[in-house]
Amino acid sequence: MSMTGAAYQKCINPDCGAEFDCGQAMFKCPQCGELLDIRYNWDKIEVPGKLSDFAKRWANKDRPLDFSGVWRFRELLSFCEDKYKVTIGEGQTILQQNDAVAEYAEVNPGRLYLQYEGLNPSGSFKDNGMAAAFSHAKMVGAASSACASTGNTSASVALYAHSCGVKCTVFIGSGRIAFGKLSQSMDYGAQTIQILGDFDDCMRQVQDVCTKLGLYLLNSLNPFRLEGQKAIMYRIIEGLGWTTPDWIVVPGGNLGNSSAFGKAFYELKQLGLIERIPRMAIINATGADTLTDLVNNKKLTWNDGKVDQTIIDEYYADLTARNFSPHTCASAIEISRPVNLKKCLRSIEICDGVVRAVTDEEIVDAKAIIGKYGLGCEPASAVTIAGLKHLRAENIIGGDERIACVLTGHPLKDPNVTVNYHKEKQGQFNNPPIEAPNDLDAIIKLIKN
Ligand SMILES: *Cc1c(COP(=O)(O)O)cnc(C)c1O
Ligand SMILES: [Zn+2]
Repeated sequence: MSMTGAAYQKCINPDCGAEFDCGQAMFKCPQCGELLDIRYNWDKIEVPGKLSDFAKRWANKDRPLDFSGVWRFRELLSFCEDKYKVTIGEGQTILQQNDAVAEYAEVNPGRLYLQYEGLNPSGSFKDNGMAAAFSHAKMVGAASSACASTGNTSASVALYAHSCGVKCTVFIGSGRIAFGKLSQSMDYGAQTIQILGDFDDCMRQVQDVCTKLGLYLLNSLNPFRLEGQKAIMYRIIEGLGWTTPDWIVVPGGNLGNSSAFGKAFYELKQLGLIERIPRMAIINATGADTLTDLVNNKKLTWNDGKVDQTIIDEYYADLTARNFSPHTCASAIEISRPVNLKKCLRSIEICDGVVRAVTDEEIVDAKAIIGKYGLGCEPASAVTIAGLKHLRAENIIGGDERIACVLTGHPLKDPNVTVNYHKEKQGQFNNPPIEAPNDLDAIIKLIKN
């Protein structure tokens, strides 16, 4: 049995499986508290017969919904009418083949692609999700919204909220936010509340605040956000001439992306639009490696939706007992209780996924390489190249496989990490400014041609 519309919400817990129409904003199953999924009755949707049919939308790019890198794939996320759809031109991203970065990761020439999500309007991939989630917010008539954020969610929420006339409040942890991101939420006009605590504390508070005040929640608990983020995979496929890569490499924070990507591929396969589902590598920072620990050491799996909750409960109880707070320079993934954990486990199963953690030293070196030879990225994005290097050394990823790494955020998001790396000569690839006297001859001597 499934709801009669084109799309509906369904609890991911197989023992519950409750279904709801898309006209409600709930964010967790009201019956059992589990995550909700958006499901489609595909026979009610006119999905193109092949993915390359979407290329025709480029001819109409003067129309905002055809220009949007999310909505030009709208049949694949068909949960609301066009009149509610929100777009500010998200998803004009680049899939760059990069041999110099490939060499660093020991991947063969021509095989590594970098998906630059930092080119989105607010400078991170979050905009893909917000285009979808704010459309749902308009559809349900929400007037006010809120989110907890390590920074990029708040920047994106603030931008989309004012662009479509919804009020917003963003909750950030104290002291841990990169300045580029904080500056955006203030500049875009969000009410910014800085809580004495870390991201996980903010996440708990915002859920209660939203319930009490009836605010529309924009964290990746929101299943509509993940529908928008599926488009990142559609654009990678598009960038590869409508073919799938062998591997997707993605940072793991709250695990919204990894969850969305697995769902995207599952649906494309189900629809007969792709032949093969790529494998996925999800990369944590060692200072925030809950997923890595749970999957690789505690052997936690999706298990047809019957995830062993006691493993998770014990793990979190131990974090609490130790008063554990995650720590990494990659602030966007400094999260120890990822809200989409179970959906991510499902993606790992769908994509035969692997999980690894990389150190801050590896992250900043990889980031410097992406800066030197590519378009740059923020620290959290660089875990992909650091993780890829590990997986190549282990030969889990082959040197001749075709790999797409998702670079989630723009380099200017977190200039402090970059400046410290170079000025304080923290890593292998530092490029510090050279001090020179105010004297022509002395300056000329310093210049290496
Ligand atoms: C939010 C964010 C992440 C983490 O993504 P999840 O979907 O929460 O795992 C990674 N990188 C950047 C730049 C981000 O803003
Ligand atoms: Zn349920």
